Amino acid sequence: MKITDIKLGTIKVPLITPFKTALRTVDAVEDLVVIIETDSGHIGYGEAPPTSVITGDTMGSMKEAILYHIKPRLLGVEIENLNYICNVIQKAMVNNFSAKAALEIAVYDLWSQMVNLPLYKALGGGESKLTTDITISVDYIDKMVSDAVTAVDAGYETLKVKVGKDIGLDIERVKAVHAAVDGKALIRLDANQGWTAKETVKAINTIENAGIHLELVEQPVKGDDIQGLKYIYDRVNTPIMADESSFGPRQVIELIQQQAADIINIKLMKTGGISKAIQIADIASIYGVECMMGCMLESSISVSAAAHLASAKSNAIKKVDLDGPVLCQYPSIKGGVIFEQSDITLNDTPGLGVISVENLTLL
Ligand code: MG
Repeated sequence: MKITDIKLGTIKVPLITPFKTALRTVDAVEDLVVIIETDSGHIGYGEAPPTSVITGDTMGSMKEAILYHIKPRLLGVEIENLNYICNVIQKAMVNNFSAKAALEIAVYDLWSQMVNLPLYKALGGGESKLTTDITISVDYIDKMVSDAVTAVDAGYETLKVKVGKDIGLDIERVKAVHAAVDGKALIRLDANQGWTAKETVKAINTIENAGIHLELVEQPVKGDDIQGLKYIYDRVNTPIMADESSFGPRQVIELIQQQAADIINIKLMKTGGISKAIQIADIASIYGVECMMGCMLESSISVSAAAHLASAKSNAIKKVDLDGPVLCQYPSIKGGVIFEQSDITLNDTPGLGVISVENLTLL
């Protein structure tokens, strides 16, 4: 199974509700799709969103990185040389993590098709069913409460509540959402780098003193503020999860050794794909640190890959935040993983199981 061509396309899928965080508001998933063709006729699919405010990747930068820097090094290479291919992708240039992720997803799709197994089984196997939380965007309190109640009614047992706008109002948001869903759903808080370290300690203390149990607080401070993260970690009981502070394996080792975070949020778009995400899960399991498998605003192709990985690495990945596809108005692919509200069911067909990509615009 030799790589004969790498093509790019784009997909645009409108969201059911606008996605609002401390950093941005988005109405649709607009992602790059990677299509790797082989001499055996097998096709591998990958996907990446241009999340410039987090990874620095734009649609233009991903296109350039793949077509002009990485593709020429991969043409003619046999898919069975998986380690070599991942090494080429990772070493072709620095950064550009989402472009690398899209390519690696397509390569792993092909590799697992080659061994004739669904990706999670090719990676060692795991459960075929996962449960995800759902994001409650930061908004007016009434809107957040009604979104939270709707989510609980739809069967979600964990809500990822976005805050990080204004600390006083954020505390009121948490209290109101908690009052509405108490006893029915667990709350994870994602401040998306919106607070300072001192504000965070104060906010978490206030929330803890109000008798509200939070499952975790994600990335309260700026991604590069590891000291701030440690300051919080040392002063609160609520588990702290690193998201933007943790991209690759080296940062994860540093965070764990400095005791600055309880949980690591792994996203393929930050790690540069599956190979480094596997390394992170393995590092975390050595140290007994839990991970969450997360995603950006991605549709079913790349989130399927994340779900397969979460299943195969469930010894470390205990939490799943893969709600990208259910935030979309319709699926971007035929075949593959099924995303139904909080239930994720992995395909038993080889690879990622993608039959076709809907509404693909080839570049
Ligand atoms: Mg986050």
